[in-house]
Amino acid sequence: MSYCVNCGVELDSSEKTCPLCGVEVLNPRQPYDEKAERPYPTRLDPINERINRHFIAAILSICLAFPAIICVAINLFMSGKAGWSLYVAGALAIVWVFAVPYYLNPKPSFGWMCLADIVAILLYLLLIAGMSPNHDWYLSLALPLTLLCGGIVWVTGLLIEYRLVRDFAIPAAILAGAGLLNVGIELIVELYLEGSYHLDWSFFVLIPCLAVAAIFVTIARRQSIREEIRKRIHL
Ligand SMILES: [Zn+2]
Repeated sequence: MSYCVNCGVELDSSEKTCPLCGVEVLNPRQPYDEKAERPYPTRLDPINERINRHFIAAILSICLAFPAIICVAINLFMSGKAGWSLYVAGALAIVWVFAVPYYLNPKPSFGWMCLADIVAILLYLLLIAGMSPNHDWYLSLALPLTLLCGGIVWVTGLLIEYRLVRDFAIPAAILAGAGLLNVGIELIVELYLEGSYHLDWSFFVLIPCLAVAAIFVTIARRQSIREEIRKRIHL
């Protein structure tokens, strides 16, 4: 039996170097045996993690499907047609689209998952519009608002995911997106309510957002300021 000359850990004859500290094993009485069976696996098995992710996806699917099926069944039993239960089933389907693909996909991509979320929200709103007597709000209000919010979140997320903006530029991109989102919301709501638009409150949100974003952009571009901030807040 050999022991590491550096850290004293007990060593197997299959070890060429100490598995703990990496120092070479030197024992003339028990030389390194290449064919000896190693006491532990040489690599981590990724199968367990995959199984766990699929297991979480299955549990989530069951937890979401169960109340949806029960609601639709009760609704059908009591009134002979699916009415209010479709709101519940649709909302649970949205939660499924938001949560489960993340666990089903071994390498979840923000771009595709965000697109699926936007489509799910649009379909749910379409379902509500289809079931309500007055549904002209869908095309003039719900659709543009969802596309605007989803589009800004999608673009900002992709810029961060593909590292086109990084470090201190990330809060700048988020603030600029939030400012533009407010302007877009005011435009769409004004057009829907009054048929014309004049920007009012959203400017008071946009200007401070852009001002703070400009500060972050300046920090992101100046290495000396960046280093100073990192030192001060121990990043
Ligand atoms: Zn050692």
